[in-house]
Amino acid sequence: MKRAEEEIKQRYDSMKAIRDELLSLTASPLYKYRTENNYFPVIGEGDHFAEIMFVGEAPGQNEAKKGRPFCGASGKFLDLMIASIGLLRKDVYITNLVKDRPPENRDPEPAEIELYGPFLNRQIEIIKPKVVIALGRHSMKYLMELFGLENELLPISKIHGKVFTPNKSNKVNIQIDELPKVVCLYHPAVALYNGSMREVLINDFKVISETIGIEKKEKSNNTSDQGDKDDGEQDAPNVVQLELIK
Ligand code: URA
Repeated sequence: MKRAEEEIKQRYDSMKAIRDELLSLTASPLYKYRTENNYFPVIGEGDHFAEIMFVGEAPGQNEAKKGRPFCGASGKFLDLMIASIGLLRKDVYITNLVKDRPPENRDPEPAEIELYGPFLNRQIEIIKPKVVIALGRHSMKYLMELFGLENELLPISKIHGKVFTPNKSNKVNIQIDELPKVVCLYHPAVALYNGSMREVLINDFKVISETIGIEKKEKSNNTSDQGDKDDGEQDAPNVVQLELIK
């Protein structure tokens, strides 16, 4: 079914508004560090109608230099995970909880999470995914609390790969009709220094896609930020980011 042009435009414009606000977010404790280093905020990329939305923690140096999420070594592994269920990066949406790079890749601070979290909430409201996948413990905590699942919050070693169904009777701090399922995975970076984690991650991901019935796309529709590509490259920046980088 062809998506209404209006809905496509509306989602695009809403995402662009987020980009513009992030670009001029002088209130952020990370703003000065960003501008001094000529970094970009990393808004996110992918299909605005994606069923799967990945939420990492914060951009690393590669990501901040390019303005794109997961474009370094852990991103390569994330691509493999996505490919393992027959999808491409452009079929999903990938973003982070914190949109600017923290110095020295330190953990995001509570004030940063508080400041950037509402942008992520808006992205979830725009995309309305079937499932949100937290990559790493900060996004795990944030998303579990956002969807009223704080009572189920345990260390990631206990709940990785489990599919949580938020309950509307719990306090859900987001305006969205159909609540997505919530899944927490180890951060893909762990697979880079611990080989046995690769299998755990791939296996968790297969189980999730089977449980929630994510379907392999025949051919990507035209709603992706990335547009059609004829150069065989699956990970070109999306339109929103391209305008940012220009
Ligand atoms: N790690 C993250 O959490 N996000 C990125 O975008 C890259 C690495």
